[in-house]
Amino acid sequence: MKLIILDRDGVINEDSDAFVKSVEEWIPLPGSIEAIARLSRAGWTVAVATNQSGLARGYFTEQTLEAMHQRLRELVAEQGGRVDLIRHCPHGPDDGCDCRKPLSGLFRQIAEHYDVSLAGVPTVGDSLRDLQAGAAMGCQPYLVRTGKGLVTESRPLPAGTLVFDDLAAVASHLLEA
Ligand SMILES: [Mg+2]
Ligand SMILES: [Zn+2]
Repeated sequence: MKLIILDRDGVINEDSDAFVKSVEEWIPLPGSIEAIARLSRAGWTVAVATNQSGLARGYFTEQTLEAMHQRLRELVAEQGGRVDLIRHCPHGPDDGCDCRKPLSGLFRQIAEHYDVSLAGVPTVGDSLRDLQAGAAMGCQPYLVRTGKGLVTESRPLPAGTLVFDDLAAVASHLLEA
């Protein structure tokens, strides 16, 4: 299977230092929905791995998070694509979980869900911790310059990280390959 694992905030939708707390605040980045749909229509299985510590902090509920993800799924479906799997970490930084990126628990969950190795699987993030979490599982890291990506680009990145302007550019690259 052709699997790709995306971060959410700053890759698919606008990031916010004040957290994305409602469907109204969940605003897709230009071209991101179409990029997911293009990948999906070309046979890629699209999964999302996202830290959502706003849950632990009490900023929004699981129900609201599910509504945001329903919106994402609907927008992609309107363009003939599919978001196959979304896994989130609901914990805070001090909860000691194994799924909050840069730890790899979400990626392990995705690998187990599909019963595949993640070796070489592209993973797209705007923060160093996204790339680290994926790289630890053997993924091919892609940094995008949306969200926190411009700041992240100036930091030491995992070996072999490829850098693109946005998710649309990553999708075009993968679809040309
Ligand atoms: Mg992000
Ligand atoms: Zn967690």
